Amino acid sequence: MHDDSTVKKPADSTTGSHLRLVNETVFNKCTEGVIVTDQNHRIDRINPSFTRITGYEPADVIGKTPAMLKSHRHDEQFYNDLTNAIKTKGAWQGEIWNRRKNGTIYPQWLKIFRVDDPANGCFYVGMFTDSESLTNNATLRNHAYYDSLTGLPNRMLLYDRLTFMLNLARRQNSLMGVLHLDLNRFKLINDSLGYSYGDQLLQCVAIRLKSCTREVDSVFRLGDDEFAVLLEDIANPQDASRVAKRIISTCTQPYKITDKELYITISIGISLFPGDGEQFEILMKNAETAMLRAKELGISNYQHYKPSMNTQVFEQLTLEYNLKKALEYDQLKVFYQPFVNLADRSIVGAEALVRWQHPDLGMVTPAQFIPLAEETGLIIPIGRWVMETACRQMRLWQKQHNTAFTISVNLSARQFQQPDLAEMVNRILSDSGLAPETLKLEITESIGMKNPLQTIEALKILKAKGILIAIDDFGTGYSSLSYLKQFPIDTIKIDRSFVMEAKDIESESAIIDAIIALAHSLDLDVIAEGVETSGQVEYLVRRGCELVQGYYFSKPVATDEFEALLRNPPWINGQKAQTR
Ligand code: C2E
Ligand code: CA
Ligand code: CA
Repeated sequence: MHDDSTVKKPADSTTGSHLRLVNETVFNKCTEGVIVTDQNHRIDRINPSFTRITGYEPADVIGKTPAMLKSHRHDEQFYNDLTNAIKTKGAWQGEIWNRRKNGTIYPQWLKIFRVDDPANGCFYVGMFTDSESLTNNATLRNHAYYDSLTGLPNRMLLYDRLTFMLNLARRQNSLMGVLHLDLNRFKLINDSLGYSYGDQLLQCVAIRLKSCTREVDSVFRLGDDEFAVLLEDIANPQDASRVAKRIISTCTQPYKITDKELYITISIGISLFPGDGEQFEILMKNAETAMLRAKELGISNYQHYKPSMNTQVFEQLTLEYNLKKALEYDQLKVFYQPFVNLADRSIVGAEALVRWQHPDLGMVTPAQFIPLAEETGLIIPIGRWVMETACRQMRLWQKQHNTAFTISVNLSARQFQQPDLAEMVNRILSDSGLAPETLKLEITESIGMKNPLQTIEALKILKAKGILIAIDDFGTGYSSLSYLKQFPIDTIKIDRSFVMEAKDIESESAIIDAIIALAHSLDLDVIAEGVETSGQVEYLVRRGCELVQGYYFSKPVATDEFEALLRNPPWINGQKAQTR
């Protein structure tokens, strides 16, 4: 049996030396930097991680105060709060920017504890990890924050960093700059040489961008060929211009990628805190606006944001720029509106109508952007995409529902003039596996009548492949009947403006009557557009128009909603069709 006192004493001393050993090991081996100061705040000890992170050896710091580590990023209030917290609560923790021995500034997460030692008075222990070594750690490099191609932080991290820096800049009255960069010929390189060249080029650009900025500035990749640079704590606006100039001269030098020498040009927009905005979104938007202005002014230049840039003309430009991105960012959608046969109320086809789901502007209607797309030529890739999407979708529906109803796709004037139109349509048909007899192309009467002879030729080529043709918005384009007879078409669509005039079964519309009679005499289908009421339906039935399209049956709807209509048309199952 052991006497309690004899057991306790040796055990206690073993534990004591054991603990000391453990403490020493933890102190020397842990990855966190540790700093111990005495009651007068003089540095007493540092551990090896402190040296690794800061560059300071024990001989550099022992006997000095931690003030030597200051980055001068924080104001007096910050340090007063810190001191007070330690005084009153015995501890403080937070993000703090310090300076390494080599002069670079870095953020660290610091915890400070006061340790009360009755024998020797109190002392303080500080422990920190530097956020950069954290983010460099492969396991912690979160995909959400970094772009995998260039290794640069992405927009999300920019948001975090800029928001944090803005708070700081607000307290310190300092100036900050945001540069929005856009490469001008990047898409061309991607399209003509392939993604491998494009990717390598972006990696090289990222490296050059980093070489143009100070250590404290950070470079971000925002999207495909867009980058941002955050200039923290600059002395004046000229500092930002200088960086922009340096970037332009560095990044426009030729790039040697595999066997090719490539050139790019770059447009840069600059917004400054606080003059051009005090919040993340505003600063970013204004930098982008300035970048667009730079783009407009010519190749490789930079612009500082000015409020006058937000004029209407400029909004048009912004819209154009955004529209260009709409396809890349998957913001376009195809909606479908059914054509209904009034004889049995069945769905005999659908019209594909494009929609632009803009992240800020919401749903932009085609009336707002098709004219712009037409003017800028963007209608070509957009129109191609709509046709591809609609044909693929229709093929799927035909298989699922075992029917051969038709899909109508609109062609704009510019698309219709493309010499390779028929080729493109053919390719899309063979890629999707859709039968040409189930694709209908709609051209407006006014497009068709602009140059009727050319129209006849172009339509003949399409018709020869078996593709169906409809004349859209009929009645508005002053058709010459002699030409119309020669158009190899299948369908005439009565413009909505005439259908609106026919209110009920008693209405008289000479134009509708004339169009229906004309269509029947030419043996063409006729579809009434914009049918919204039961009165209009009754009127059209009486006049012998069998096919209709309009809100009375359904608005243009997204794919899944259209599928629901196909499975279960609400107007057939005894439920009243509603004007939605
Ligand atoms: P559109 O070809 O005449 O298409 C019919 C338009 O009338 C659609 O407008 C449709 O939503 C609307 N509509 C249908 N039924 C009713 C109704 O009962 N009442 C009313 N008030 N409106 C009805 P949306 O989708 O806004 O398209 C407008 C125009 O934009 C289209 O007129 C077409 O010219 C053009 N568009 C749409 N998608 C495309 C496209 O993919 N390519 C081209 N080139 N043009 C397109
Ligand atoms: Ca149409
Ligand atoms: Ca129409």
